[in-house]
Amino acid sequence: MRSRRDFLQKLTASFIAMPILSRQSYAETERKLTDIFYDGPVLRVAIMGLGSYGTRVAEAMQACTKAKLVGVISGTPAKIAAWQAKYNIPEKNCYNYENFDEIKNNPDIDAVYIITPNALHKPQAIRLAKAGKHVICEKPMALNAAEGKEMITACKSAGVHLLVGYRMHFEAKTLEVIRMRQAGEFGKILFFQGLSGFRIGDPAQWRINKGLSGGGSLMDIGIYSLNAARYMIGEEPVWVTAQETKNDPVKFKEGVDETIQFQLGFPGGAVASCLSTYAMNNLDRFFLNGEKGFAEMQPGHGYGPIKAKTNKGDIELPHITHQTVQMNEMAAIILEGKQPVLPVDGEEGLRDLKIIDAIYAAVKSGKKIQLTS
Ligand code: NAD
Repeated sequence: MRSRRDFLQKLTASFIAMPILSRQSYAETERKLTDIFYDGPVLRVAIMGLGSYGTRVAEAMQACTKAKLVGVISGTPAKIAAWQAKYNIPEKNCYNYENFDEIKNNPDIDAVYIITPNALHKPQAIRLAKAGKHVICEKPMALNAAEGKEMITACKSAGVHLLVGYRMHFEAKTLEVIRMRQAGEFGKILFFQGLSGFRIGDPAQWRINKGLSGGGSLMDIGIYSLNAARYMIGEEPVWVTAQETKNDPVKFKEGVDETIQFQLGFPGGAVASCLSTYAMNNLDRFFLNGEKGFAEMQPGHGYGPIKAKTNKGDIELPHITHQTVQMNEMAAIILEGKQPVLPVDGEEGLRDLKIIDAIYAAVKSGKKIQLTS
C-alpha cells in the first residue's frame, strides 16, 4: 500500500512538472491513477428494481472502485437472467420481492440500493434493515415524513446505514458553488430560483399513479429544486407557500400534481421561488443571488454535464458520471465513516419530506405554513 502510494505520488508529481497539462487535466489524471491503484475496502451492493434508473446505476457502478454490483432483487426472472449474464452475478445473490428477506443469510451482500416506485421504498427499506443490510434508497425517500421517520427508526434499531440517492450532493460544480458561497464570495444570500420539470408521457405509468408515486411532479422532479434551495442557500426554510396549476385533470388525477410553484422563506432573510412541473420541458435551472455575486447552473440537476457559472466566470471541472461518484462516496460513508460535504442520510431525506408535506398542505389550504425543525 505504502509503496503504491509513493509510486502514485511520484507519478503525479511528474505530471505537475508538465506545463502542457492544465490544472483540470492534472486533477483528472490524478483521479484515474488513484482509481487504478485502489486496494481498500469495497461495498458489495445489490440493486432492487431493475428499471430505467436501476439500469443507469448498474452501468455507472462498473466504473466504481469502492462499490461493486454483486446482486439483484427483481420480480422479473428474465431481467434477473440478463443482469446475471451481463454483470456476472451469481445465482445465490439473486432474489425476488417475496424472498428477499433471506438476504440476511447472505454474507456476500453489504447493502441494497432500492430503485423502485416511491410507495415501495418504506416497506422495502424496513425489510432490508431487519435483514441487517445497509439501505441506499432513491429519492423521494418515502411518501411523507411519517413514513420517513419509520424508516429512520428501523435502520437505527438494526444498526444499519440509511442513505438517500441525492446524486447532486457529490457533483463537483455543485460543490464548488457551495464552497464559494460558504467562503462568502457571493455575499449575503437573498434569493434562489429553482426550475425543475419535463413533459411526462405515458398516462399509465406509476409516476402519475397516486398510490405508487405519492403525488406528482413535486415528488419526482420538483424535489431537486426543493433540495437545492436548501443546499444552495445553506439554511433550513422556516415557512412555505405554494400554488398548483392543473391544465389536464384527466391525466393528472386528484392528488397528482401537474405543476406546483412554491416559495420558501429562510431565517437569514433569503427567499426561494421554485417551479415543479410535468407539463413543460427544458426546466433544469438553479440561480443563486447574493449581495456580492451570483451562481447560475443550467443544467443544474440533470445527468450532466452540469454547467455552472458565477459572476467570476465559468466553473470548469471535469464531468464524472454522477452515479459513479455517488456510489464511491456512499461506500466511503458506509465503510470508512467519511463525512460528506452535503448529508445524504435519512435525516436529510426526512427534511425534504417534511417540506413536501407542507407544500401539499399549503396548496390545499392556500395558507402560509410555518415549518418547525
Ligand atoms: P422505472 O419504472 O423505470 O423502474 C421501476 C422498477 O421497479 C421497474 O423495474 C419495475 O418493474 C419495478 N417495480 C417493482 N414493483 C413495482 C410495482 N408494484 N409497480 C411498478 N414497478 C414496480 O422507474 P425509475 O425511473 O427507475 O424510478 C425508480 C425510482 O428511482 C423512483 O423512486 C425515482 O424517483 C428514482 N429515480 C431517481 C433518479 C435520480 O436521478 N436520482 C432518476 C430516476 C428515477
